Amino acid sequence: MIVVRPVVRSFRSPHLARAAAWVRRGGHAVVWLSPRKARLIFPRPKEDDDHDLGWWSVLDLGRLEYGVETRGTFRGMGVLRIPHDCYAIVRDRVTRDSIYAAPRRTLELDCLACGACCRDNRVELEDVDVERFARGGHPELARPPYARRDDGAVVLVLRRDKRCKHLGDDNKCGIYALRPDSCSKFPVGSECCLSSREEELGLVDGATA
Ligand code: SF4
Ligand code: SF4
Repeated sequence: MIVVRPVVRSFRSPHLARAAAWVRRGGHAVVWLSPRKARLIFPRPKEDDDHDLGWWSVLDLGRLEYGVETRGTFRGMGVLRIPHDCYAIVRDRVTRDSIYAAPRRTLELDCLACGACCRDNRVELEDVDVERFARGGHPELARPPYARRDDGAVVLVLRRDKRCKHLGDDNKCGIYALRPDSCSKFPVGSECCLSSREEELGLVDGATA
């Protein structure tokens, strides 16, 4: 699949206008207001777009909410206060992307040659997933040995080698038509996708590490 993803660039506080211009052209900006105060600025996600890559950059930093600037240089753009324990992560992204001159980058990713996001992953089942399993004639998918209770949630079971129980040796999902929402909404080329590939396969942005 061909995807176009935002390129992450770092800016310091005298250069806010350049950061805003970068984001207007589709990039993501890590803006350092001081050495201990950093913001991620990104194009405002469309609220009805579950696949928005800005939203998934927020999720990948462990946050479930972001703000929208109402005034100033970044007016109308998405903004997230970057947690201190994520500084190393965003610095790594800036380093990774430093070879790209433009704010957006096109890359080709093949899920069937990958499967990284189906390994060592916590997939929680929502009510809609359980209902979909039942409608599809497979209510057992929401029960052991396919699913189990964990910390108040129902999650898919992993094999001993940490692969999802439904992931085939050919990297095809064995329950593709019924797969949980969190799987079907997972966007190719998002920071979550790229970090899964790096952690599980040692592949950095499509290239071998
Ligand atoms: S990690 Fe990305 S490329 Fe790999 S299977 Fe998942 S969505 Fe596809
Ligand atoms: S259910 Fe399918 S898509 Fe979801 S993690 Fe398992 S193998 Fe991957």
